[in-house]
Amino acid sequence: MVQPYKHEPFTDFTVEENRQAYLQGLKTVESYLGQDYDLLIGGERISTEEKIVSYNPANKEEVIGRVSKASQELAEKAMQSAVEAFKTWRKTNPEARADILFKAAAIIRRRKHEFSALMTKEAGKPWREADADTAEGIDFLEYYARQMLAIKNGVPVQSRPNEHNQYGYIPLGVGVIISPWNFPFAIMCGTTVAAIVSGNTVLLKPASTTPIIAAKFVEVMEEAGLPKGVLNFVPGSGAEVGDYLVDHKDTRFISFTGSRDVGLRIYERASKLSQGQIWLKRVIAEMGGKDTIVVDKEADLELAAQSIVASAFGFSGQKCSACSRAVIVEDVYDHVLNRVIELTKQLKVGDPTEQDTFMGPVNDNNAWKKIMEYVEIGKQEGKLMAGGEGDNSKGYFIQPTIIADLAPDARIMQEEIFGPVVGFTKAKDFDEALEIANNTEYGLTGAIISSNRAHVEQAREDFNVGNLYINRGCTGAVVGYQPFGGFNMSGTDSKAGGPDYLLLHMQAKTTSELY
Ligand code: GLU
Repeated sequence: MVQPYKHEPFTDFTVEENRQAYLQGLKTVESYLGQDYDLLIGGERISTEEKIVSYNPANKEEVIGRVSKASQELAEKAMQSAVEAFKTWRKTNPEARADILFKAAAIIRRRKHEFSALMTKEAGKPWREADADTAEGIDFLEYYARQMLAIKNGVPVQSRPNEHNQYGYIPLGVGVIISPWNFPFAIMCGTTVAAIVSGNTVLLKPASTTPIIAAKFVEVMEEAGLPKGVLNFVPGSGAEVGDYLVDHKDTRFISFTGSRDVGLRIYERASKLSQGQIWLKRVIAEMGGKDTIVVDKEADLELAAQSIVASAFGFSGQKCSACSRAVIVEDVYDHVLNRVIELTKQLKVGDPTEQDTFMGPVNDNNAWKKIMEYVEIGKQEGKLMAGGEGDNSKGYFIQPTIIADLAPDARIMQEEIFGPVVGFTKAKDFDEALEIANNTEYGLTGAIISSNRAHVEQAREDFNVGNLYINRGCTGAVVGYQPFGGFNMSGTDSKAGGPDYLLLHMQAKTTSELY
């Protein structure tokens, strides 16, 4: 009997034993820095001359590892092995598929701090953020395995005398998984295993700045007993390999998490029929966000300030769920803004391997430059109240930045920055605050801080986001508890970690037999 699902607890690093375990994880990671990793195609390890080099964003001299880079020919080979493996994997019973996920979760749980420490090094995640990322990956494995068991017999439908009707779900085929660097383990793992446990075979193209954690995950899936060809590992360039696979006639679906612009590009390309293609490709897209915390005048203002700081600057604001806009009712605007400034000035920015670091670096030099450009725009559109400085001499560091007194339509209030920058706007009352909160093209997360019951209910109805949080911050959705995904330009509202997520990777089949 499978135990009921419970999310993986976060590690308490005030406990000395846990602290030591994490430091040990860091040592393990340091012992294998700089190694080479192969592609995995049809169970065969393939090394290419050309490599993607992964650097530590906190110390750009340090090489985390080098992965082989797939060419179009190798992507084609991977596609063929996925097509072949699908023939048997789709018939492997759901229990056996789920067991592989349970086994992988157990392996990763045993190596938990090593995985977290690798993300500290490769993605610049401070301890707590890295620990949450590993926990979420484990959750996806545990949750989707159980979901598969729950849906394996389909849904009951009616039958009549001498007639037997059945309604069930079958896999789609070969999926292309294009995963992001900001949750380099959790989202990469979750999107891959959801597809696999539903009976599909996949080609995984991880983000180019975080391929090493993905290579480690692929090793775990092999160790857990996944048959050859079910998971093919094809790191490569978006323009070369990404487009090629998205356009491919044998691609049945694409599961993408990343920016709005890349998501739109994939959506558009996937809609075009390739020579020999006999289906409409499905796209599961989780794109950007421009997420707002609304603070009412009747509210716990300390909670409001803490929630804004944690949601705006956790992992340097590099979450599509991050709070990048604070909309505050005018009566309490100055109070909340001043408290947020105070709290922000206490945050330690620096080396993420140090336990007390709150914010590490941003992803790479491109991210750094883009965010710094937005800081400049912010200084013109509003008032710089904290931060504003960046230093990319050793790693890509940016101070947590607050821009106040912005117009609701300012660029800082409309465009996704994906960095540690939060804009403040004043609203005359709660109605206007909600209106401002809704005036973006995105609709991912949002939060309200209010002790007014009527306003809470009003937000429930009118705040147009996929994940609405009340009296808490707007990041940190937990698998199986807060299914995660957004409206409008935030994507296809595919709720990761939710009860209908696997169905997006499947098609329903009706059979009716007359006796
Ligand atoms: N699921 C994460 C959260 O709730 C965000 C995922 C993302 O940034 O892509 O904070």
